[in-house]
Formats: sequence, structure tokens, C-alpha cells
Amino acid sequence: MFIDTHSHLFYPNFAEDIDEVIERAKSSGVDYIIVPATDIETAKQTLVLADKYEMVYAEVGVHPHETKEWTNDNLKIIEDLAQHGKVVAIGEIGLDYYYDFSPKEKQVEAFRAQIELALKMDLPIVVHNRESDEDVMRIVKEYCNSGLRGQFHCFNGSLPDARDLIRMKYFVSFTGNITFKKADSLRDIVSNIRLHHLLLETDSPFMTPVPYRGKRNEPSYVKLVVEKIAELHKMPVEEVARITSINAFRLFGIGSLQKTNYTYLLGNNLYINITNRCNADCVFCNRKGDAILEGYNLKMSKDEEPPAEKYIEEIGDPKKYGEIVFCGYGEPTIRWDVVKAVAKYVKQNGGKTRLDTDGHGSFINKRDITPELKGTIDVVSVSMNAADASKYAEIMRVEKRMFNEMISFAKSAKQYAEKVVMTVVSFDEIEIEKAKEIVENKIGAEFRVREYF
Ligand code: SF4
Ligand SMILES: [Zn+2]
Repeated sequence: MFIDTHSHLFYPNFAEDIDEVIERAKSSGVDYIIVPATDIETAKQTLVLADKYEMVYAEVGVHPHETKEWTNDNLKIIEDLAQHGKVVAIGEIGLDYYYDFSPKEKQVEAFRAQIELALKMDLPIVVHNRESDEDVMRIVKEYCNSGLRGQFHCFNGSLPDARDLIRMKYFVSFTGNITFKKADSLRDIVSNIRLHHLLLETDSPFMTPVPYRGKRNEPSYVKLVVEKIAELHKMPVEEVARITSINAFRLFGIGSLQKTNYTYLLGNNLYINITNRCNADCVFCNRKGDAILEGYNLKMSKDEEPPAEKYIEEIGDPKKYGEIVFCGYGEPTIRWDVVKAVAKYVKQNGGKTRLDTDGHGSFINKRDITPELKGTIDVVSVSMNAADASKYAEIMRVEKRMFNEMISFAKSAKQYAEKVVMTVVSFDEIEIEKAKEIVENKIGAEFRVREYF
């Protein structure tokens, strides 16, 4: 159920009892352990461990501490080692200006060279960063659209940096240090990052969580890290385990993906995954990507779209949920008849309904569908995305006139639904103010800013 993505099991202090360490990990619910190398010698040792234990996977690479003698000859060796079938990343690599064991120029040279290798081999990178935030961020930003993916392990940067990394599709992870007494600022960062972007790790034999602090760390203690994350996110441990395991699958390909979820639970609401089709193509949308959301697999082709009965069967008694929400990676009104049939069932059985839409439903169905909201949809939530037509068209990659289409849909929906909410995803304060003004004064709907990380 847990995946410890970062555990240096080749350290000499594991030599005596490695079999027991592995057994303890298993019996504590750890499914897989990834062992990152720190230099060429340990890279070879990670492969030995991966060969010996089924649950162990390996990373090969040179840690910034060990880059003093770096030459590009190392690259060839790493590339050869990375051919091993259980190597899942180039790691750990990065910069460390805290200890400064190797000259900065050497660290940067090795970091860049290993990034290039990861790109060439289509492997993710696993990054170590200590007091080198500025340089690390500058370098990874240079590779922003190159397809480079990775994990920032033992994250100790700022929240804005974490957000930048997430926008660039990196995963971040935290170790036992989030259980330390004085780690309030770190805990604040953890609680501000959606589970969708988190991985689990121990960084064994270091960073031992409370109450074992001061002793050797080991993969079975990953449970204490998960428990802390669950507490900070006010979520069950199983939920954190499920989502972070899917994240490990997304990044490293370890484990497996569950079948398409036609309905999925978030908090107290049941979400209905209607379609992956959409008339828009938003720049931030994951619809054409893996379509995974909070550990749920929402990917489906047109042929796989189930009938209303399938959703109704999965819903059962709708009163069990806060709301039944029509929302997935796609525009639900593309299957408006199915939405209506399911919504009708929900209403007849005492449930509440919400439709999350781009507001193009009438355009898509070639008729004004807003009167049909009456008695079926309680709340309509329209993604507004921008405060003017040009920006809107740019973000959603649609024609500019669709901005007015969305506005009139919202206006009209107000007559038939109990409530209309309009949302924007934005980091720009001025944009937000402009959008709020339109929504509250011109449309008379409720306004909400939604965060997409
Ligand atoms: S409207 Fe929604 S589903 Fe369609 S592309 Fe944009 S974010 Fe994705
Ligand atoms: Zn490490």
C-alpha cells in the first residue's frame, strides 16, 4: 500500500540485517522501495539489491557531494548501468551548497550532464537540493518544455518554488523531518500541496521520524511519514497511500493502474466521470495526458463511455453523499442526455446535483439547454478561466466568441438552477478582480477562485 521512493539501502549500517529490514517493510505495508545511488560504486550496489529483492527498484546517478572528480566519462558508465530493467530514474542528482563538498561549478556540470542523459533515456530525474534553490530552480526552468520529469526529494525549498515545480509537473516528497518538533514551516508547505503531486519517502538511513529520531531510519517507518501527511491533509491514511502509490506509478512506472473510474469519491462528494471529450483544449488540462486525478484513473475513449444505468448503479443511494457532481476530464454537456438521466435519478432519490461545465452546453447541443437544468441540476459551476475574450480564447484554445457564449449560458442558467457559481484559475490578482467584477455585477452569480495545484 505504500511506496518508499527514496531509501539508501546500500549504506553499511544495513549490511547486517537487510533481510529483516525488507521483511519489516513488507509487514508494515510497504509494496515497493526505490534505492537511489550516490555515485558509481553505489549505483552498482543498487542493481545488486534490485536483483536480489523483488520489491526493490533502482536509480543510478552521481550525488552533488560526489561530483568533485566528475568527468563526462562517468556518463557512459551511468548510461550502461541504466540499461538494467529495474532502473526507474537518474538519481540522485542535484546541488548542495550547504555542505559544499564539491566545487559549485563541478556540481552544476554534473547536474546538467545527468539531466541531458535522463532526457536522452526518457527517464525521470530525482533531485537533491540543499541551500541551492536559486541555481536548481534556474536550471530546471531551462528544461521546462523539454519533457523532463522528476521528483524533488526531501523538499526543503519555499512554497512558491514548490508551486513552480508542480506547474512544471514535478513531484515533491518529504521525509521524517515533517514530524520534527520545529518543522512548522515545512508542515505548512506539505498541507498546501495537493496529494496529486506528492510521493512518499524515508531517505533511509537518514531523516528518521519521531519517535525514532536519533536512530537509523528504515523503509517501514514510511508509515509515520504517511500518518503525518494524512493528519495535515485531514484525510485517511489509506487515501494518502492510494494517491501517492498512483503517483509513483505515473512517474516511475512501478505498480499498476486501476481500471477507469466511472464514479469517484472526493471528500464527501461523488463525482461522475462522463466523458474525456471536450470542445475546448485548455492549456492546463490533463485530459489528453494520463487523465489521472487524485489517484483516480479517469481515462476513457468514446467507445468506453458507459450508459446512464452504469452510473446510477454505482451511485446507489445518492443521499449518502454531499453532492453528486458531474465533472471529469471532459465537458459533461457533450453527453447531456446521460447527465440529465442520471441527475433525474439523483433528484428523485433525494440527492443533490452539481454540474461543472465550460458553459458551452447550448453551443454543443445546438439548442438552449438551460431550461432543462430546472429540477435536474441544483448548482451549475461554470469555469470562467479569464476576464476577457482574448485571454479566454488563449487559455482554452477556442474562438473568442465562446467567451460571450459562456457568459450568456451562466446568465440564463440563473433562471433555472438554484445557484450558479463561476470559477477562475488564476495567479494574477488584477485578472481575478476583473473577473469578480463581471461575475458579481454583470451576471449576478457567485464567484470563486480555484487552485489547480
Ligand atoms: S474545458 Fe475542462 S475538460 Fe475541456 S479542455 Fe478545458 S479543462 Fe479540459
Ligand atoms: Zn538521498
